[in-house]
Amino acid sequence: ALRTSMASAPDRPTVIVANAGTVNTVDFDDLHALADLRDEFGAWLHVDAAFGSFAALVPEHAHWTDGIDRADSVTVDLHKWFNVPYDSAVQFTKRPDLQLKVFRNSAAYLGGITDQPDFVHLTPENSRRARAIPAWFTIAAYGAQGLQQIVSNNIDNARRFGT
Ligand SMILES: *Cc1c(COP(=O)(O)O)cnc(C)c1O
Repeated sequence: ALRTSMASAPDRPTVIVANAGTVNTVDFDDLHALADLRDEFGAWLHVDAAFGSFAALVPEHAHWTDGIDRADSVTVDLHKWFNVPYDSAVQFTKRPDLQLKVFRNSAAYLGGITDQPDFVHLTPENSRRARAIPAWFTIAAYGAQGLQQIVSNNIDNARRFGT
């Protein structure tokens, strides 16, 4: 259906919003198939991996995220499975230059653009708390193996609960 829709208006600017783990049913899209469509028609492929990205930590479930590296942008919510405070989301993009164009803040007192990432010029927020610090501590404290354990244990418990 998506191919038919895209083929019917090949010049229309299109963003494909793929899911890596939907909220209600934990559905994962075939990310390679959607990336192929993106390549064929020239679109933007965003992957909402807020929850599902963490499947990549567990070898048994990692295949669900196959193709996520082909996305143009990906969002991941660290406040979901990393046990960090609410609104600690992470966003990856292949075009940080576009992000700077959209969110660039031009007030003189906010400073200019440098070659260092500056979130004042990359997001709609000016005032921000340091969300990266609890995320960094969590990653440093648990490590990849500890985080994998959290996800694995949650999945095991969900299966038991389902049974
Ligand atoms: C939680 C969630 C969102 C919403 O993200 P928030 O940053 O918590 O508002 C979007 N998509 C999925 C799949 C989620 O699990």
